Amino acid sequence: MRESCGVFGVYAPNEDVARLTFFALFALQHRGQESSGIATADGRRIRVYAGMGRVSSVFSEDSLSHLAGHIAIGHNRYSTAGSSRAGNAQPIIVGEGVNTIAIAHNGNIINAEYLYEELAGQGYTFHSSTDSEVIANLILSCTSTRWVDKIRYTMRRLQGAYSLVLMTARGLFAVRDPFGVRPLCLGRLDGGWVIASETCALDHIGAEFIREVEPGEIVSINENGLESFPGESSRKGICIFEYIYFARPDSVINGRLLYLARLAMGAELAREHEVDADIVMGVPDSATAAGIGYSRGSGIPVAEGLIKNRYVGRTFIEPDQRIRDLGVKLKFNPLPQVLDGERLVVVDDSIVRGTTTPSVVKILKRAGAKEVHMRICAPPIRYPCFFGVDMATRRELIASQKSIPEICSFIGADSLGFLSIEGLIKAVDLPRDIFCLACLTGDYPIPVQLEMDKLALETLSSNQHP
Ligand code: SF4
Repeated sequence: MRESCGVFGVYAPNEDVARLTFFALFALQHRGQESSGIATADGRRIRVYAGMGRVSSVFSEDSLSHLAGHIAIGHNRYSTAGSSRAGNAQPIIVGEGVNTIAIAHNGNIINAEYLYEELAGQGYTFHSSTDSEVIANLILSCTSTRWVDKIRYTMRRLQGAYSLVLMTARGLFAVRDPFGVRPLCLGRLDGGWVIASETCALDHIGAEFIREVEPGEIVSINENGLESFPGESSRKGICIFEYIYFARPDSVINGRLLYLARLAMGAELAREHEVDADIVMGVPDSATAAGIGYSRGSGIPVAEGLIKNRYVGRTFIEPDQRIRDLGVKLKFNPLPQVLDGERLVVVDDSIVRGTTTPSVVKILKRAGAKEVHMRICAPPIRYPCFFGVDMATRRELIASQKSIPEICSFIGADSLGFLSIEGLIKAVDLPRDIFCLACLTGDYPIPVQLEMDKLALETLSSNQHP
């Protein structure tokens, strides 16, 4: 469990591609806030500039002005503790001469350690601890002279989730794993093409959405235009949390606007978990739409009871426990004049470790709320994610350790209701079999035998040492 990032790519002669990438990364800031980087190519040479922090603090007029060319890729990175260092900022450049590539990756490669050993044994050297460098070296290790063949070879060797943008000095490629775990879309720009994790990035730079990059597909863009190389995809496994939480509400994935999906999740929650209350509020910002949906479904008026400091960042994607704990207190300020004496329905997107929710309930009760009824858009998360979402180990997942009444008492709420898997799928309004629901059901779309063995050992040791 390493990263859940935002990627962007553009091929556009006549455009300031570095600046376009900068604005697109702004739109994708919610997908990763630890580091940011842009690489550009002008047909002969690849340049890169990357650093720790958010987009606005990494880049300046000066750094952007040195990123010349007509091709660019960009990356916003989120990482867990231990790998949060400048050397892991992306895009990374690997290779030499005409065999040089820059790569940016969203996802997690399950067999990266095995591939790393294999490549290191062949003499490949590594400068970071990212899966992305393993992918890049694997591409370079293929002896074919065609880039598409090198990438296809690499896709056959990789197990896991990956939405990639990569470029040579002359061309841009977009690659999505056969399960399509992470989103990736294609857009048209006057005189060029763009690739982005989410459609909101296309909107912000004035690009037209064309279609999603299909699971298993390679898209190649160069001076000859765009060419698609479809791949085989036996089972789709789109991360359901893109719909619940990760992606921005103004993005569209699989034809479904996330704002509408979240409204419907709230309405389904109201149907499944009715309660007598005075006010409904969504925990801002990710559950705001679901709060409105609950209000519409229940007839209980919606209000704002917590104001979010938008500059603190998302606690769930901060790298360690200490920062996460601090983050909750810094993040929300209650409105006592709105909350005093009221019975609240509070809609939130998910409960993962259970570290944030008790603080939210406490803040609301201290501000005068008479009752707090928590309603959660995600069903209980009982299994870890192996596909790039840093949730927790199984032992840290509160729903794998406690029953729902125990969680309710732990978080200090008056009642607690989780949306059912059926209710969630109904709200998203797409076929169930296109989704990865592994952290909810334990049914992983990608073989994770090694990790499951580790999990079994972990469960065993947690039973022995409670
Ligand atoms: S396990 Fe959960 S978080 Fe991970 S990809 Fe699947 S649905 Fe998403």
